Amino acid sequence: MSPETLAVLGAGTMGHGIAQIAALAGYHTHLFDVDGDALVRAVQRIDANLGKGVSLGKLDEALRQEALERISTHLDLDEAVDAAHFVIEAAPERLELKCDLLRVPGDALLATNTSSLSISAIARAVPAPERVVGMHFFNPVHIMALLEIVRAETTSTETVDRALAVARRLGKTPIVVNDVPGFASSRLGIALGLEAIRMVEEGVASAADIDTAMELGYRHPMGPLRLTDLVGLDVRLDIARYLYHELGTARFEPPKLLERMVEEGKLGKKSGEGFYRWEE
Ligand code: NAD
Repeated sequence: MSPETLAVLGAGTMGHGIAQIAALAGYHTHLFDVDGDALVRAVQRIDANLGKGVSLGKLDEALRQEALERISTHLDLDEAVDAAHFVIEAAPERLELKCDLLRVPGDALLATNTSSLSISAIARAVPAPERVVGMHFFNPVHIMALLEIVRAETTSTETVDRALAVARRLGKTPIVVNDVPGFASSRLGIALGLEAIRMVEEGVASAADIDTAMELGYRHPMGPLRLTDLVGLDVRLDIARYLYHELGTARFEPPKLLERMVEEGKLGKKSGEGFYRWEE
């Protein structure tokens, strides 16, 4: 097992998941957060996830123990990135914050898990833009196989190759995407979701029938409206507004129905109602 060190900056929903798969893959994993409680919660969540893996027979108890031992938590950023070969930030979606976190000296790979910010803008703000790359994980990190590797104009070929190697070692299936708004996944997923909402708006069919069309007709595991309910209508509206602003095409103009439902607090599963009613 190689002794490489991977630092994860931000220990929330995404950060704890990245730390979990990094430790399981054999990296010495440094998990940093400004909030001590977040670090405690992250380790508890990792412990619980790995414990579930053991109880389902998917993970050996010894491997679980080894993975937990490879994780250290840090409230000091310098200490967390010290000697790290790879740094992956998963902090809140604020450009300045991400730039601050990735000003790491040395030759570490500098990855950001941003879902919408420009990788080029982040790269421009750090002293080594050739080392900056997007590594866009999906939630829940330990389950979702896809990893978008996002290449800014300044990202070196060596950095892309390093990111691909890390992705594979983490057990993910990487795709390489140029740095455009929405990357590959959000752009296509949002286009489909918005069109489905417009079809409900126009009375083409019910939400359930539109979903069934995609599930049975196109073998999507989940229809676009049920998926919108799971992600959150407010989250999807924000992304649609961002893509509409950035790409300027009518395809991403938020449908009135989506805006109205968000105003009414119909946010999908988390609020109990969206295109479907969700019971506890
Ligand atoms: P989150 O709110 O769950 O976690 C963010 C963590 O960052 C928190 O623990 C917070 O304490 C910590 N933090 C705050 N300030 C910090 C600082 N200065 N330095 C280090 N840590 C700090 O957020 P999340 O959902 O994990 O999202 C993190 C990033 O991942 C965002 O860029 C988001 O766009 C992206 N992302 C999220 C998802 C998703 O489904 N949640 C999917 C893909 C990408």
